[in-house]
Amino acid sequence: MDCIFCKIANKEIPSQIVYEDDKVIAFKDLDPQAPVHFLVIPKEHIKSADELNAENCAVIGRIFEVIPQIAKELGLENGYRIVNNCGEDGGQTVGHIHFHVLGGRLLAWPPG
Ligand code: AMP
Ligand code: ZN
Repeated sequence: MDCIFCKIANKEIPSQIVYEDDKVIAFKDLDPQAPVHFLVIPKEHIKSADELNAENCAVIGRIFEVIPQIAKELGLENGYRIVNNCGEDGGQTVGHIHFHVLGGRLLAWPPG
């Protein structure tokens, strides 16, 4: 499968990894939209949030368990935003579910 985030998870292409365990990997976004911007993904290929179900959703809990740990390590004491873009109208451009974590500045709301 030609999935760029599977390739990152398999170390077939380089990334700036900020966290890794057996189920989850987190790495810096190539085009950061804030002083701190990293992505957290399951190592298993799941296309989007729209494909979550009872069989594959446990890893999402793991992702939300590790986000505060990484955020703390990267100095996001003042808060941060977690974003999941789902599908075309949601602005998803990479078809492997990922959670953006952005911080280090005041973020506008609502998004465009
Ligand atoms: P989305 O638009 O929500 O699908 O987000 C995809 C994100 O992946 C964008 O913020 C890109 O900058 C980021 N991205 C794409 N390729 C890479 C890569 N090789 N390493 C790190 N981030 C990437
Ligand atoms: Zn993938």
